[in-house]
Amino acid sequence: MTALTDWDALFAAVPTTPAAPPARRLTPLEQMHQVHGVTPGQRCGDCAFLLTTYLGYFKCERFRLTHGPGTDWRKKWQACGLFQATEGESDP
Ligand code: SF4
Repeated sequence: MTALTDWDALFAAVPTTPAAPPARRLTPLEQMHQVHGVTPGQRCGDCAFLLTTYLGYFKCERFRLTHGPGTDWRKKWQACGLFQATEGESDP
């Protein structure tokens, strides 16, 4: 019976705090904002680095390019710190 008591003491020492939730991966835009910051008042749709593929999908030239939807970009997204106005656009 003494051995059982030792096992109980062993498991009682195991911490009961819940495990931390798994870290969420940052989205491509969050990665750009984390590395380069944001440009207030600007959208990716007005940036010179926004590409349009032959199928009409938008991609950021300064982010890694793939042929998949994971790197599709949106014109309405908040511009990152690398924002460069397209020709004919002026800063506010
Ligand atoms: S602002 Fe330009 S460089 Fe920055 S994420 Fe948008 S498209 Fe890419």
